[in-house]
Amino acid sequence: MWKCPKCGRTFKTDDQSHYCGKAPATVDEYISAQDEEIRTQLQSVRLAIRRELPDAAEKISWSMPTYWQGVNILHFAAQKKHIGLYPGPEAVERFAKRLTEAGCGFSKGSIRIPYSDSLPLQLISDIAAWCRETGHHA
Ligand SMILES: [Zn+2]
Repeated sequence: MWKCPKCGRTFKTDDQSHYCGKAPATVDEYISAQDEEIRTQLQSVRLAIRRELPDAAEKISWSMPTYWQGVNILHFAAQKKHIGLYPGPEAVERFAKRLTEAGCGFSKGSIRIPYSDSLPLQLISDIAAWCRETGHHA
């Protein structure tokens, strides 16, 4: 847990980038609170996830866009230098090879996707689908 010294909100990830004001209540608000140059990339990630999780509720949980269907299936977040994807440790292990090939860093339960005009969207969709099919989750 990390508490922002400016706005006092708490986050799961240290030094989580966020808008120091009223907390976004929806994913639309979350994305529009980010820097303009990354908004399109965040929308692309959102669509890649939603394509595979059409029945999941989209909400903000742990201050991050979250896909919920009985449990939090996965989250994503705009970090300073990358997009964070949080699908749980089993998914990270399962996709480790493809993540490495795509130039993504990862550690237990979290994936670091570098900001880019060519995001690995198919890989993100595949991870979301795998979580849906296997029941593994964040
Ligand atoms: Zn803050």
